[in-house]
Amino acid sequence: MTLRVGVIGVGMIGRDHIRRLSAVLSGVEVVAVSDVDAERARTVAAGVPARVLATGEELIADPGVDAVVVCSWGETHERYVLAALAAGKPVFCEKPLAPTEGACRRILAAETAAGRRLVQVGFMRRYDPGYRALRAAVRGGSIGEPLLMHCAHRNAGVPAWYVGESMITDTAVHEIDMVRWMFGEEIAAATVLVPRRSRNGGGLRDPLVLLLETAGGILVDVEVSVNIRYGYDIRGEVVCEDGTASLGEPSPVRVRRAGLAGDPVPADWRERFARAYDVELQEWVDAVRGDGPLGPSVWDGYAAAVVADAGLAALRSGNRVPVSLIDRPALYAD
Ligand code: NAP
Repeated sequence: MTLRVGVIGVGMIGRDHIRRLSAVLSGVEVVAVSDVDAERARTVAAGVPARVLATGEELIADPGVDAVVVCSWGETHERYVLAALAAGKPVFCEKPLAPTEGACRRILAAETAAGRRLVQVGFMRRYDPGYRALRAAVRGGSIGEPLLMHCAHRNAGVPAWYVGESMITDTAVHEIDMVRWMFGEEIAAATVLVPRRSRNGGGLRDPLVLLLETAGGILVDVEVSVNIRYGYDIRGEVVCEDGTASLGEPSPVRVRRAGLAGDPVPADWRERFARAYDVELQEWVDAVRGDGPLGPSVWDGYAAAVVADAGLAALRSGNRVPVSLIDRPALYAD
């Protein structure tokens, strides 16, 4: 049976997900949309075509909607995820699950009370072929135990709403989740180091380095540069006891011209992670239709929020900030 999905929030990523749910993936159709900008909702709905519902709550309650995709701003996620849980409907929620630890814990309480997993969080790096191959290489046993990881998260530029805290909560949060998934360990502490500022960074402390320590003692450095101009560049190298493993270049082509040879660099995250988003939502659709397990959980969203808070505290104080998580509920056992 085709999964009938309703999408809340039809901004940049909402529209991109509607396109892939409608035109790329199988077993799913978008039947309804909602957005605070009613005109935008009508325009997007006309192109699907789908029905427009006045509010996210109406969309969730609609009997023609089997499952919900939340793509509105982070501050609104809690109310829609809680409404979907109350309605007993599966929900794919774009990251962040919610912007505060308190909000994540309320969602955690609601889902554990329901006693079954209904929520998946949009941490798409877990679905990227490069990161999946890197994880397989690290876990394969041929290069020994992991000791260190070097990461870089570089954006050509950032939108007007982007502030200093966004470097942790919006940008490095992807590495925070990736590291937990890569090594199967919680993050135990965060430190932020700030070098001299880029002249491209406006008022931001750009770049910065986020240091993450896992519970098992792996040290991860994440360079966050968000006005690097040359493109969107994601790097990762894991240093193990007997060797290293790194992400390959994402470009399938090398261009030689004017005395130089080079790999084209993606313009932004939509280009770099296009395949990851496709796989992420296809696996979610298949899981909801009953063929497989759900992906990143409410626990993952909660843990990422707590580590991001520690990163923010480290950015403000210059200190190493320990991470303290509540006990992991049995519902989220590995
Ligand atoms: P966006 O372009 O601003 O789109 C958000 C949309 O939601 C806008 O149309 C906005 O309307 C609407 N909206 C705001 N409040 C709402 C509410 N209460 N109910 C329904 N709709 C509401 O933002 P975006 O870049 O698509 O980001 C949306 C979410 O996706 C964020 O949580 C972001 O962190 C996440 N995201 C994830 C990734 C990823 O790689 N996984 C990438 C990009 C974004 P107005 O414009 O009128 O406010």
